[in-house]
Amino acid sequence: MAPKAEKNLTNLFQETLKDIYYAEKQILRALPKMAKSAQSAELAAAFQKHRDETEVHVERLEQVFELLGVQARGKTCDAIIGIIDEGKEIMEDFAGTAALDPGLLAAAQAVEHYEISRYGTLRTWAQQLGMKDAVKLLDLTLGEEKATDAALSQLATTAVNAKAA
Ligand code: FE
Ligand code: FE
Repeated sequence: MAPKAEKNLTNLFQETLKDIYYAEKQILRALPKMAKSAQSAELAAAFQKHRDETEVHVERLEQVFELLGVQARGKTCDAIIGIIDEGKEIMEDFAGTAALDPGLLAAAQAVEHYEISRYGTLRTWAQQLGMKDAVKLLDLTLGEEKATDAALSQLATTAVNAKAA
C-alpha cells in the first residue's frame, strides 16, 4: 500500500485558518446579540466596539488566504459553537437578573481566549513558514483580541460585577 502523501505545516496552517475564519463569522453574529442583552451601557459599548473590530478580523483572514493563494473558506469549529452556546444559555437563564452582565462578561472572555490561542499559534506557524505579511496581519488581530480581553477584565473588576454583588 502506498503511503499517504504526508501533510505538512502549510496544510495545518491552512486548516487552522479555516477554523478561525468560521469562528470569527460566528462571533460577528453573536456580538450584536450580546450587546443588546447587556444591561450595562459600558458593556454593551465594549461588545459593539469589538463587533466592528471583528469585521476587520474577517477581512484580515481573507488577506491571509489570498497570500496562500487559496479561496477563503470556513470549516465548522465545534469549539466556538460550544462557547457561544454557553453564552446563549446564560442570556436565557440569567435574563433580568443582576448576574446577567457578569455571565456575559465571562462568556465573552472565553471567546477571546479561544481567539488568542488560535492567533498565537497561527502567528508562530506563519513565522516558521516565512510568511512575513501573514505574521503582520495575524499579529494585528492578536493584539486586538488581547486588548479586548484586558478591557473586559477591567469591566469585570469594576462596574459590572460590583453591581451584581
Ligand atoms: Fe476576532
Ligand atoms: Fe475577539
